[in-house]
Amino acid sequence: QPAVDFRDVHYSIGDTPILKGVTGSFPDGKITTVVGPSGAGKSTLLKLCNGLISPDRGTIFIQETPIDRISPIRLRQIVGIALQDAPMIEGTVADNLAVPRKLKGEDLTAEEAETALADVGLLRDFLNRNSQELSGGQRQKVSIARTLVNRPDILLLDEITSSLDRTSQREIEELIRAINRKFGVTIIWITHNLDQALRIGDYTWVMMDGEVAESGEHVLEYPAA
Ligand code: ADP
Ligand code: ADP
Repeated sequence: QPAVDFRDVHYSIGDTPILKGVTGSFPDGKITTVVGPSGAGKSTLLKLCNGLISPDRGTIFIQETPIDRISPIRLRQIVGIALQDAPMIEGTVADNLAVPRKLKGEDLTAEEAETALADVGLLRDFLNRNSQELSGGQRQKVSIARTLVNRPDILLLDEITSSLDRTSQREIEELIRAINRKFGVTIIWITHNLDQALRIGDYTWVMMDGEVAESGEHVLEYPAA
């Protein structure tokens, strides 16, 4: 059964339709990349997956349950998200890793923090590093580690390598693939980079103008913008 399933999902801002009847599923335990030109509705799709916004019409199923029947706390547990510029709170890497727990009024133990870092291939001496002094790639790794603290079943990634150099980009790609294979986490990865989408995705959705233009294991044609 799919991890996430969209059934005729419509979303508008004012009178402007942003998603115009999106139907399709994200297979459990796989990496699905969502590619398409800027403005196609990719970020909107992600915001619907984590309940930040709700559809005007249609249904989104998360692990076969309609999303509006899942409590916000439970949803935050199941669905993690990492963003393009990996926003960090001021303080150390350890402070940042603790954020998901603090939101629940709990603490993160030093051991758990080290495990989270190890999951993204960073050594424990990063725990005391100032979050504002990390490189772009390190910052994104910490951001991914922070989402893993909740042990999500589904991880949403919004353009997480767009501002990184080629080497860091490939490193993050390998990392996400390792997390997917090791923990079975379902990945939904938005990118405007078609090469990356095809390189990293088990499946790919091509979005155009608020609709799914193509989807499948092999995308044959990339529609011109
Ligand atoms: P993508 O991620 O593919 O670039 P988005 O989902 O961000 O696309 O945006 C889809 C469309 O919705 C774009 O035309 C964008 O301008 C519009 N849009 C997104 N968010 C807003 C907003 N808060 N207010 C007005 N228009 C928005
Ligand atoms: P439990 O024993 O409570 O089921 P697990 O350690 O087996 O906890 O993990 C629960 C879920 O989280 C499983 O789907 C597992 O694959 C996944 N998982 C385990 N470790 C991690 C991790 N570090 N980050 C993300 N997901 C993880």
